[in-house]
Amino acid sequence: MRLPLLLISSVATLAACTATVRDTTPVRTATTGVSAIEVPAIAHPQGETADWWYRSGAARAAANGAMGGRAKNVIVFLGDGMSLTTVAAARILDGQRKGRPGEENQLAWETFPATALSKTYNTDAQTPDSAGTMSAIATGVKTFMGSISVGPASHNDDCAGSLRHHNLTWLELAQSAGMATGIVSTARLTHATPAATYAHVPTRGWENDSELPREAVEQGCHDIARQLIETPFGGPVVALGGGLDEFVANTIADPGNPDQHGKRTDGRNLVAEWLAAHPQGAFVRTAQQLRDAADAPRLLGLFAGSHMDFDHDRDDSPQGQPSLAEMTRAAIRTLSQDPDGYVLLVEGARIDMANHYGNAFRALDDTLAMSRAVQAAVDATSADDTLILVTADHSHTLNFVGYPVRGNPILGKVRGKSSFDGTPGKLAKDGTGLPYTTLGYANGPGYTGASASQPAGSKRFPHPGKGYNAANGRPDLTGIDTTQPDYMQEATVPMSNESHGGEDVGIWARGPGSDAVRGSVEQNVIYHFIVQATPKLRERLCAAGTCNNDGVPVELPAIDAFVPTAH
Ligand SMILES: [Zn+2]
Repeated sequence: MRLPLLLISSVATLAACTATVRDTTPVRTATTGVSAIEVPAIAHPQGETADWWYRSGAARAAANGAMGGRAKNVIVFLGDGMSLTTVAAARILDGQRKGRPGEENQLAWETFPATALSKTYNTDAQTPDSAGTMSAIATGVKTFMGSISVGPASHNDDCAGSLRHHNLTWLELAQSAGMATGIVSTARLTHATPAATYAHVPTRGWENDSELPREAVEQGCHDIARQLIETPFGGPVVALGGGLDEFVANTIADPGNPDQHGKRTDGRNLVAEWLAAHPQGAFVRTAQQLRDAADAPRLLGLFAGSHMDFDHDRDDSPQGQPSLAEMTRAAIRTLSQDPDGYVLLVEGARIDMANHYGNAFRALDDTLAMSRAVQAAVDATSADDTLILVTADHSHTLNFVGYPVRGNPILGKVRGKSSFDGTPGKLAKDGTGLPYTTLGYANGPGYTGASASQPAGSKRFPHPGKGYNAANGRPDLTGIDTTQPDYMQEATVPMSNESHGGEDVGIWARGPGSDAVRGSVEQNVIYHFIVQATPKLRERLCAAGTCNNDGVPVELPAIDAFVPTAH
């Protein structure tokens, strides 16, 4: 055993000393006249600096031909927690709602010509969170769990250190390049995914000032809501989502719900400050107000105190909340007024939360809401000038099991096709003779033991999943309608909150530069697909001296060099 160990360590030492040795990333011959980019071989994880992640991501995107892209506009759709299993089950549910078997159906992005797989791990976590993953997508640099666009050399709660590791996002880069920018989400706009496009904090929970430790305030860190309004890059032209309470003082009652107050303890009303800074802008609270603001040059929409509702539970009256598709149409309409092009993030945020709650119905239903939003973007743009990327930040533990017959209700119990499950055409039975559902969770609040709030057996949404007793066998689902919206799929391991999953997620792409989207790539490569395929973005990076001789942005940009100068 001793000799191989010695061999391995001497190889590692050699590699560490040879700065130009290419890492294991496969490099294809580019069709764009761009030479292969050398990436230093490093020891993992200790050699994974921000510079290394940036350069290695650039090398992969360029090798795939992303520099051939000529995108004017970029729209990134992020299905939060939209695992490949969630996509497969949602496409079937959609097809079955149209009266068909369902398996042959396609969601809006499944017609796109390009696909890839994205490796989602964080620098310090095998199974990642939404903050570290979106930071990788937003900045081109993988980083730690909980980071909001702060590099991997920092860590959670490290305010002072984080200030030296703010990484430029493509949203900020676009603002610096004179493009219009937008953010749409069904989560609070201060939640991890949207936050990572415009804010920089080492701890994702710092959504309003009351969440910051005093030490962090003294060291100069600002909360996420404040960074949306005060960003030196000018802020997005369109920001639509939830999270009003993060922007207003705790002395201000919510107009729609007088019992609900803001959360800020600094007395500030950031909405009023936004309106003062943008007198032609429209601040909207309802679907109707959003429609009425169609001609406004700038839009801030905060449609809920916290997250917006699941699409199934949404009040779709004029006084209620707009759908994700309606927000997407409004954003594109406003942003496309800018002749210099735009970048837009659209997040289907609550796919993730429904999975955490162990409720497949809402996870699939919100995935379909995002499919309608992607279709709205496809209809409102041209594949000649607009790159659309659809991806997820991470997976979940949703399982799709058994041998159900073609067209079996995806939320139903397995009715077997195969004799593996017993008699074909009859409800399939487990080893104790009980039926089971096609969809289930590996962990979460759907565990069937008695809990502090619900008796033993199948659980109903919403279920906090605390104070569990061990289950005594499985519940008999024979008389239970598992397709109704509040049924919670069985979870094997009892947890109050179902967890993320660690396997790869999909990337689907259409438009200029999309042919580079292929293979198994690290998640931070998505940033490089975007900036390399968009001349305005890559040229702005080159103007700051971060490009190689072929014009490929390969060096980690220093964020301060991109702050627009005051007019
Ligand atoms: Zn999550």
